[in-house]
Amino acid sequence: MDIDIKELKHQKCPYDEDQAILLVDVETESAPATDEDGNLQYYCRAGKHVFSIDEDGKAK
Ligand SMILES: [Zn+2]
Repeated sequence: MDIDIKELKHQKCPYDEDQAILLVDVETESAPATDEDGNLQYYCRAGKHVFSIDEDGKAK
């Protein structure tokens, strides 16, 4: 995988306008968690929910 994890580690939640953190696969502790479409998933601490960001940087 050739992506910069640090740069992708935080996203602004599109719903709460608060910071969300990248979900990491708990088994490998390195590869980011993705949804069924391969989009990165983030956990929003403000709203306590998970959302995905597609390759265009849009929340789903
Ligand atoms: Zn949120």
